[in-house]
Amino acid sequence: MVLATLDETVPRVGRILLHARRSEGAASVWCKTDGIVFCGKESGRLLRERRAYDAGGGFLAVDGESYLKRDSGQLDLFGPTLQAAHDQAFLRTSMYLAPSWRVGPEIGSLRAVLEAGERFLEAVDQQSHSAPGYVPVVVRPGWRGALLDDMCAELWSSGIPVAFLFAGGADPLSSRREVAAAVKLVSAVPSSIVLRCDLSAIGLVSFGAQLASIGATSGMRHVFVPMPKANNKPRDKSAHVLVPALRAWVRGSKLNHIDGPVDLFRCVCRVCDGRSVLRFRESEPHAGLIRDEAEAHGALAWREIADRVLADDEVDPRRAWLDECEAGLESYRILRKEGLGLSPPGYLSAWSSLT
Ligand SMILES: [Zn+2]
Repeated sequence: MVLATLDETVPRVGRILLHARRSEGAASVWCKTDGIVFCGKESGRLLRERRAYDAGGGFLAVDGESYLKRDSGQLDLFGPTLQAAHDQAFLRTSMYLAPSWRVGPEIGSLRAVLEAGERFLEAVDQQSHSAPGYVPVVVRPGWRGALLDDMCAELWSSGIPVAFLFAGGADPLSSRREVAAAVKLVSAVPSSIVLRCDLSAIGLVSFGAQLASIGATSGMRHVFVPMPKANNKPRDKSAHVLVPALRAWVRGSKLNHIDGPVDLFRCVCRVCDGRSVLRFRESEPHAGLIRDEAEAHGALAWREIADRVLADDEVDPRRAWLDECEAGLESYRILRKEGLGLSPPGYLSAWSSLT
């Protein structure tokens, strides 16, 4: 697929953006494709640098990550909301993202986020720089259960374009119920996008989200909520390696028992050029050049998957995505037959079960 010509101000349905905190690694190979959401305190500077470095830089946006904070009352003030719209207009972002606080366990907290978001979108309309705006809404684990219908009704009646961030202790989309709830949510608003997701971003776009972003690192692929510690086992700090054939990121520590040239681990992206991705398992955690290479490989490899699912007008993207998940599960079955068993991530069977 040729991705050279991009409109910088109109969201192209089916875009898969990169969500990154740095301009190196994945971002450095990404500037000519779908676009980047820079996050964190440095996001404005990173966006300006990318524009200066690459004559425009493509579809670029900034995420201030205010949704990670609790509502301490500032959400009701006009000042920060207006300032955020002004700042993003100054940066000429390709889409505006409202400053949202973390949604609490009651429907009232969602309403407060949407009301503040509405004020932000009004402020966006007054800016001379025109681009679509979205209000980030963090979907807590509890919202995917009994409160799902209330949440959908609230979102639908507000009519506000929403950027969903799915939160959990680990993968927030690892069961059929969670995936079905996410599909229902992205369908509950006329304009929805998904931020900071993993490969499920591709699934959610194929099922109706306008666009989605995949995190360059594991910390950016999910919004974590504190969970009670299950045991006192030390945390696994090994690197996450994207294995294209498995359609999954696998911990380096889980790949240590695999020896020799196993075809399933070979990657043909332009970073790997036929080499095995097992070379990324060694560094714990990734640092420096190997980290940049692993990130760049990851972004190029999931771009391939996204293209297969979303780029062919002849194919129903939902069917294509479910086929990708089934292909990932089949690769896991092949490994098991070869005595190299690994456990597939929950999202592969969760999505496959939607057929
Ligand atoms: Zn690769």
